[in-house]
Amino acid sequence: MDLPESFTQILKQKRKLLKIGLSTLSALLIGGTLFYFSADIKKSLQASLVASEKPLELGSFPVTVPTLKYGFAIDTFQVLEKTIEPGQFLADILLAQQLDYPSIDKIVANSAGVFDVRRLRVGKPYTILTKDSTQQAEYLIYEPNVYEYVVFELKEDKKVTRHEREITTEVRSAAGTLETSLWNAIVGQGLSYDLAAKMEDALQWSIDFHHLQKDDEFKLVYDQEFIEGKEVGIGQVHAAYYKTGENEYHAIFYDNGKTDGYYDLEGRPMKRGFLKSPVKYSRISSYYNLNRFHPILKRRRPHYGTDYAAPYGTPIYAVGDGVVIKASYTKGNGNFVKIKHDDTYQTQYLHMQKFAKGISSGVHVKQGQVIGYVGSTGLATGPHVCFRFWKNGKQVNHLNLKFPPAKPLPDEDMPRFTELRDKYMALLEKAHPVKVEDNDASLAAENGNP
Ligand SMILES: [Zn+2]
Repeated sequence: MDLPESFTQILKQKRKLLKIGLSTLSALLIGGTLFYFSADIKKSLQASLVASEKPLELGSFPVTVPTLKYGFAIDTFQVLEKTIEPGQFLADILLAQQLDYPSIDKIVANSAGVFDVRRLRVGKPYTILTKDSTQQAEYLIYEPNVYEYVVFELKEDKKVTRHEREITTEVRSAAGTLETSLWNAIVGQGLSYDLAAKMEDALQWSIDFHHLQKDDEFKLVYDQEFIEGKEVGIGQVHAAYYKTGENEYHAIFYDNGKTDGYYDLEGRPMKRGFLKSPVKYSRISSYYNLNRFHPILKRRRPHYGTDYAAPYGTPIYAVGDGVVIKASYTKGNGNFVKIKHDDTYQTQYLHMQKFAKGISSGVHVKQGQVIGYVGSTGLATGPHVCFRFWKNGKQVNHLNLKFPPAKPLPDEDMPRFTELRDKYMALLEKAHPVKVEDNDASLAAENGNP
């Protein structure tokens, strides 16, 4: 953390005094003399000790450890703590501290590129530090968020500096089962709802978080962030597990210094492309063609799909992980399935003879999973699957789309990845839901629900 220069100087001086104080103390102890601190030495000792985790004690003389806040030994100041009120501007705060307009102008000018003073937000805390109530305030500290604060020097140079707080982390785990909603499964346990967003980051290629189902299970291993001992947020999710129906998904975060991301248990990226075709051993009988002559309708009509001719009953595969958003029948499409893979891509499979067992709206499917069988239902002359690829709501020719290949991690990464994976898998295994009384859970959910 950057300490304001003046404070660093004070600290150096006080350290010197501390040394003098300590040597005086030992000399006195050696002499076995009854001793006492002069008020001055005692004061400097107190002021010089920087807050540390353990309470300090010198012999039988407890020493009050000063509180260090914003890089200042806060005990040496008069502290005024407030929050920004509606309609309150920086100038209002500074005028109340007897600053004149030229001073305020200088502070605003110095804040350029550091902090936009027009962005003070209602309800955010600020602190004014004054040496003495008879004097002008020394510092204004504004906290735009828990991670940082801005120090405005109100005297002399009127410097404006922005400081990031030191974040410490602790690896934690969480687990839950969806009874009513993901919200309740997380917040009902007193956990941060940020976990849901981070879990989605890890599993977004496999799970459609808009269509979660009752009894789905999740487990997470993540970093809990702390600032000055207080929980402030969720950091990296290291490992995520999700079970929906019979399908289980694992995502392990791995960073080799060049790229980072989530990988499955075999080291393949979670973010993966699509199968080239939805049927094996088939041939393309008709290409995507915006100017095609329709064999049944006997007129020009764009063909938004690619037809794969295959014998009746040939299995049709989901080309990517996703959730079934439609499994129904229309006169034109016959039996068809539509799958949402992510916010960008959807695929559709027409003219099925029948759906595979368990395929219906809302069901999660994995890449390569059988979703139906080749038929000729709807407007079809013979057995084939008309495969349609939707990108951002438009039907496109998937044969022209370039997807990044889903290559596994290089061999040289595998030992480290395997070690990490096993470590986090062990933690996932141990993750259990926090037991909360039913009443508390529903209350927490109600109170926290935005
Ligand atoms: Zn077709």
